[in-house]
Amino acid sequence: MSTDARDLVIAGSGVSGLSAAVYAARADLDPLVLEGDEPGGQLTLTTDVENYLGFPEGVGGMDLIQRGKDQAEQFGAEFRHGSIEAAELDGQPMELSLSTGETLRTRALVVATGASARWVGADGEDELMGYGLSTCATCDGAFHRGDDVLVVGGGDSAMEEALFLAKFADTVTVLHRRDELRASEIMADRAREHDDVEFAWNTELLEIHGSQDDGVTGARIASHPDGYPKERHEDGTDVAVEEVDVGGVFYAIGHEPNTAFLRDTPVELDDSGYVQTARAEDAWATTETAVDGVFAAGDVMDPDYQQAVTAAGMGSMAALDAEEWLESSASVPAESAEAIPTEAGD
Ligand code: NAP
Repeated sequence: MSTDARDLVIAGSGVSGLSAAVYAARADLDPLVLEGDEPGGQLTLTTDVENYLGFPEGVGGMDLIQRGKDQAEQFGAEFRHGSIEAAELDGQPMELSLSTGETLRTRALVVATGASARWVGADGEDELMGYGLSTCATCDGAFHRGDDVLVVGGGDSAMEEALFLAKFADTVTVLHRRDELRASEIMADRAREHDDVEFAWNTELLEIHGSQDDGVTGARIASHPDGYPKERHEDGTDVAVEEVDVGGVFYAIGHEPNTAFLRDTPVELDDSGYVQTARAEDAWATTETAVDGVFAAGDVMDPDYQQAVTAAGMGSMAALDAEEWLESSASVPAESAEAIPTEAGD
């Protein structure tokens, strides 16, 4: 039976959760870090991080995460597999039901569960995800040596994926639904200047062909001179539709915040599902949520910046906010919390 009763649980082990863990562990809060469904978060899917302060030569995403984890463990943070499936956040201590079947009790919670890749909604994607369709060029690019591949999206992620894939693939075509990129100038220029990267403007993906045995073999794409062809196609407007032979498709159209477990709690989410944190006097943002003792940091509450360095900064803020709240709150001390019988063994 699980008998955990904690001062602080940190949900998520990406750069934000790790930074919170380092701060909380150094403050002797003995944080428990739940690693989540994607341990290490999005940086583990990135090659070189060139804009994280202190690494003038760049640093591998996986390397940065491993260093962060080592650093947090060195100060006493504990890591555990699993994610939160349901949360009872009214009252103290709060109760968290985990994917492992355990239930945890904690006085304070830092939500650093990040965001996950969005899917396009093209026909065939459910069957082919992981079989030639991917949301991670770093993970799957090497399977596409000599292939022609598509990358869907027009932001920095799409440029990064396209440039990475160009190392392996014969040609990389970026499908973008408009004729203007959202990506930063520097990333867009790098992609535009690469000989093996092409752009299909005002174009979207309707269907992916292939099978789990053969992988991706082709795709049906649509274009319209005014952009957003998929929407127009669905409305019955005439769009140009073309079949293309490709050996791989990569989605890079942004992310969804991982907040499903908060939907039935008093934590406030915005229309896109991002956690809403309080804005204190003078508009200085804090990591406090609508629930006392629950703090949020990183991509789960930040649809705007979404940088490793900002997520790390917010993780440290959340730990400091949690520390202050734990010190000042009159909530039930963790020591007196009773164990909750659960189905899972421990
Ligand atoms: P993003 O900036 O939100 O771009 C998403 C792209 O996908 C947009 O071009 C969007 O088109 C397109 N899109 C969205 N939904 C679509 C759909 N259903 N069908 C077709 N296209 C769709 O997301 P991101 O590229 O993942 O970047 C997120 C953040 O991370 C940004 O702040 C970015 O700067 C940062 N980032 C930085 C780096 C780096 O510096 N190395 C690398 C990756 C990401 P529209 O343009 O028409 O909306």
